[in-house]
Amino acid sequence: MTTSGAAVPTNQTTGHRPRVVIIGSGFGGLFAAQRLRKADVDVTLVAKTGHHLFQPLLYQVATGILSEGEIAPPTRDILKNQANAKVVLGEVVDIDLSARTITSWLLGRETEHPYDHLIVAAGAGQSYFGNSQFSQYAPGMKSVDDALELRGRILGAFEMAEVATDPAEIDRLLTFVVVGAGPTGVEMAGQIAELARRTLKKNFRNIDPKTARVILLDAAPVVLPPFKEKLQKNAHRQLNEIGVEVQLGAMVTGLDANGLDVKDTTSGATRRIVAATKIWAAGVQASPLGALLAQQSDVTIDRAGRVEVQPDLTIPGHPEVFVVGDMMSLDKLPGVAQVAIQGGRFAADRIAATVSGKKGKEKFQYFDKGSMATISRYHAVADLGKFNVTGFLAWAMWLLVHLVYIVGFKSRVVTTFSWIVSFLGKGRAQRVATQQQVYGRLALEKLGPDFEVSQTGGLGAADADDVQGALDVADGAPVGGARS
Ligand SMILES: Cc1cc2nc3c(=O)[nH]c(=O)nc-3n(C[C@H](O)[C@H](O)[C@H](O)COP(=O)(O)OP(=O)(O)OC[C@H]3O[C@@H](n4cnc5c(N)ncnc54)[C@H](O)[C@@H]3O)c2cc1C
Repeated sequence: MTTSGAAVPTNQTTGHRPRVVIIGSGFGGLFAAQRLRKADVDVTLVAKTGHHLFQPLLYQVATGILSEGEIAPPTRDILKNQANAKVVLGEVVDIDLSARTITSWLLGRETEHPYDHLIVAAGAGQSYFGNSQFSQYAPGMKSVDDALELRGRILGAFEMAEVATDPAEIDRLLTFVVVGAGPTGVEMAGQIAELARRTLKKNFRNIDPKTARVILLDAAPVVLPPFKEKLQKNAHRQLNEIGVEVQLGAMVTGLDANGLDVKDTTSGATRRIVAATKIWAAGVQASPLGALLAQQSDVTIDRAGRVEVQPDLTIPGHPEVFVVGDMMSLDKLPGVAQVAIQGGRFAADRIAATVSGKKGKEKFQYFDKGSMATISRYHAVADLGKFNVTGFLAWAMWLLVHLVYIVGFKSRVVTTFSWIVSFLGKGRAQRVATQQQVYGRLALEKLGPDFEVSQTGGLGAADADDVQGALDVADGAPVGGARS
């Protein structure tokens, strides 16, 4: 269905202040809301989590350096002094472009939110490239739940190895495979290696954590594909130095509780890697809200479900609807925080200009500030356009940049302290691992569609009986993970 590009209402035509609804409290949504602080509008930010998640540091939660609270401050708290903004917790389940409403869902309660301007910033989830069954044994890393599950699985594997007696079983438990050698996979593999070699030293009596195998594999022929060749080589070398086995041109064709089947992309030969812990850091799929927009307008979505927006980040025929961040596809821009932040701010500026009758900038122009990936303590690579930076300097820059973008003074202070403890010393303070973290996701999935739970970290339980059912499943039938 195509809707005409009707004029965007202002307070003169509606009698109320223009209502801006923002979907998502990630980089795109939150920075858009903050940008509208002084605009003559009412902002409603609807998100399925109550926090703003700093995804780039999820791997540090998964490996015990940071606690989840340090990278996920409450959105309500961040916006508490912004009088024109309110926060609604709920998963958006419908967008009606002709009625100009969205519907959110929380614990069985549906709420409709009318809008005059809409910013859709619902991000992306993990893609298993059509093999969603892999997710049972190889969690992705997109949400706080994912990071805590991974922490439980990683630490649980060492615990299981300590009590195992069969050497083959110990080898399986002490083999960690990270699939996907992009920045997330590289960072994750590096941290598991450091956890095993530094933090867990002297913690066990029957096993030597140093002997853990950490394998980073990818079907691509290089690590960090978006980076320059020199930096890719540097990162590869550094990974090898800290004991990460890098296997490239290796495509995962099967994955189960005991390991993975891998096919060599050049020779076609297949082999098996026996490993208890698998982590999926390859592939993203944009929020299904993009498909919902495509059903109701002339906009198209690409293979990853991203919305092919116009140069002003709106969708055809709907100057009032913006799509930003990981959900949008424009000029091959990457799915990184800066694209989401700058896109969110651009959309907010366009809305503020429309409301105040000004023209404003018509085209979104991305300012590329460069890319960074950290490999280990004291070593990172930074691609800054004309300049390549490696080693300690890149690592120090990485720390600084991440501190700047962590929202909230308290989070910055606590994070700095945690980094001092972990990087100067050997300790990692956040090593709590609970059964709920490891089994919760799969137990919820076993309850089926009646127990609506968001794949990327939302709240969702139909009623108390369902909650009890989940507990029964988790108690009686452990599945996957370190225990299998
Ligand atoms: C592990 C990891 C490491 C990364 N490292 C880096 C890095 O080092 N540097 C970098 O620049 N980028 C990095 N990125 C990418 C960066 O985090 C993303 O590009 C950025 O978060 C995108 O912002 P966004 O607002 O589009 O989406 P997100 O930040 O994902 O936010 C989406 C929001 O929408 C909400 N939402 C989703 N669906 C719904 C729904 N149906 N209803 C209501 N709310 C919904 C979510 O709860 C969330 O609040 C990393 C990403 C990951 C996963």
